[in-house]
Amino acid sequence: MSQPDFHQILGITPNASAAEIKRAFKRLAMRWHPDRNADPQAHEQFRLAREAFEHLTGVREAATPDAPEDSPPPPPRRPRGEDHRLDVGVELTEAALGGTVTVTLEGRSTCVTCDGSGRRSYGRTTMCSACHGSGRVRSEGGLKSCPSCKGKGYFTDNHCADCEGRGWNPADRQLAVSIPPAMLPGEELRVAGQGGPAPEDGEPGDLYLTLRARPHPLFRLDGHDIHVDLPVSIFRVLAGGVVDVPTLTGIQQTLLSESSTATEIRLPGAGFPARGRRHAGDLVAHLQVQYPRFLSKEQKALLEMADQVLQQQLDDQSPILARWRDALKQNR
Ligand SMILES: [Zn+2]
Ligand SMILES: [Zn+2]
Repeated sequence: MSQPDFHQILGITPNASAAEIKRAFKRLAMRWHPDRNADPQAHEQFRLAREAFEHLTGVREAATPDAPEDSPPPPPRRPRGEDHRLDVGVELTEAALGGTVTVTLEGRSTCVTCDGSGRRSYGRTTMCSACHGSGRVRSEGGLKSCPSCKGKGYFTDNHCADCEGRGWNPADRQLAVSIPPAMLPGEELRVAGQGGPAPEDGEPGDLYLTLRARPHPLFRLDGHDIHVDLPVSIFRVLAGGVVDVPTLTGIQQTLLSESSTATEIRLPGAGFPARGRRHAGDLVAHLQVQYPRFLSKEQKALLEMADQVLQQQLDDQSPILARWRDALKQNR
């Protein structure tokens, strides 16, 4: 028995890379997984795709030299369902690090009354009111076949009443979508096969999700940079030392330089992560100097001591204060 064409099953060319094979399998698995697809064909399609995937990845690992060289004819274009678009709110950290979101999609469930056929076995017959059931109408002195009922005298309505003849009823469905890391809000994510339903002999459309970042309590995204307000005590600003700077991946301990007049700290590359050719952004922490509402006795004593030391070293430590002291002396 000849082997099935595994490449064709996956819809890829024989020289497809391992990544392409994997992608093709994932796409098919998403479409045909029996948990997601009620189509009676789904089970068999899923099994075929998995078999092809396992076979091809096995072949690849073993590097069989006699793998087929000539490419199979391209698969015929099949009619496709509509593509759907949806905005999905994510946390900034989810957009940056990846995560899973659940979206609610308009779905269809097969009508149980008619088992999806859209028809009922016993049609409801109604008399044609144009010809009062005779099938003929008077016309220019004679009689002719009734155009409304085409001469039958009655109408047969064998549409399923529960689904109005569609064969399905609208039913929302939940779909868990994994968000790959480093997708910027506003970017689109394609979910193959989760758009509009497949037309006959066709395949379903795709779903495009546009990420919208929900406001974050700490972080603001600006381009690829992440901004954060960082309250710091005046003592820490004066003494320097380590401050905790929140980033998307956790707290980063950062050294403040002593008596720095800088109002922000920039952590290069700690902003929104890189993706493809896009570089990672920076994290910019805006220092918000905090003065205590009151001072304890000990703090006052320590500050008093600090100021006395300052007065003794004024020329070195604060030339402006030193000049001011001299100016006051001359004006005494
Ligand atoms: Zn029905
Ligand atoms: Zn009629």
